[in-house]
Amino acid sequence: MIEKRIEELTQQIVQRFEKSGYKINAKEVLKRLKLLMLEFKVPENEAVRTTVNYLVKELEIPRESLAVESEFVRISDITKPNQWVSLKVKVVQLWDSNSPNISQVGLIGDETGIIKFVIWAKAGKKEVEEGKSYIFKNVVTDSFGGRMQVNVNRNSEIVEIEEDVSLPPREIEVVGALISIQQNSGLIRRCKICNRAMTKGLCPIHGKMDGYDDLRVKGVIDDGENVYEIILNEENIKNLTGIGLKEAKNIAEEFLDRTAVLTELKKRLLGRYFKLIGNKGERYLIVKNIEFLKVGLKEEVEELIKSLEVQA
Ligand SMILES: [Zn+2]
Repeated sequence: MIEKRIEELTQQIVQRFEKSGYKINAKEVLKRLKLLMLEFKVPENEAVRTTVNYLVKELEIPRESLAVESEFVRISDITKPNQWVSLKVKVVQLWDSNSPNISQVGLIGDETGIIKFVIWAKAGKKEVEEGKSYIFKNVVTDSFGGRMQVNVNRNSEIVEIEEDVSLPPREIEVVGALISIQQNSGLIRRCKICNRAMTKGLCPIHGKMDGYDDLRVKGVIDDGENVYEIILNEENIKNLTGIGLKEAKNIAEEFLDRTAVLTELKKRLLGRYFKLIGNKGERYLIVKNIEFLKVGLKEEVEELIKSLEVQA
């Protein structure tokens, strides 16, 4: 049993060196593995490592030029330099490279984070494109200026994949005017099972359901350049208007009409300027913090320009 395993390991080691362009003597590898595993009872991993190290030294092979099959990790797991890893990522951004040694440089990301990558010209890889997803196989982690990055060398492989790898939510700050509030805002009912907003007592998934009250605003913020679809939760709304869930229910009771809440919120929020921070998802900007802009946008911009002029 173990004899057969040793032969398998021998083949793996030989192939690994061959892949990197080095021909080694299989008999020599087999002999060393047998000695280590059978005579000295060294565990398999340790025996392979020791044998590979011996060959690397003996043949004077630069360590980084030896092919490895590295484990798949997530970007947030990359914390140490000089590790061989494989990644499934999307190319977020390509930068201009000013070195002839670098083929491409930029940012790649997965759900857990974003990291800088460098493809060395010597690696001889086909160029990657922004917005496309790839497997980055056998890349080496590195630390540069206190930040982690990954390097693509000639033992690495880059393979484009169909899958659209998602990126971590982006936190952004927006300053702009609330130009619209959607009809399905205000005092709403949510499904007790899936928490989706219900219309006329119906959940889009579960049909006729028992619901519970919630307060939200779905709206559109315009910063003069882009529009953002935003969602405000009860806490955001209460901080801005003083109307929380309890107050909203009171308004609905007083007017015998739940839509009175929406009317009131529109009156207080629509057309006003805000400064907000939120997480940008696929469609909506989920607001974390929002406040009224203390001065008008125009005044704030003028102030900013003035302060820049002073600095200059
Ligand atoms: Zn439901």
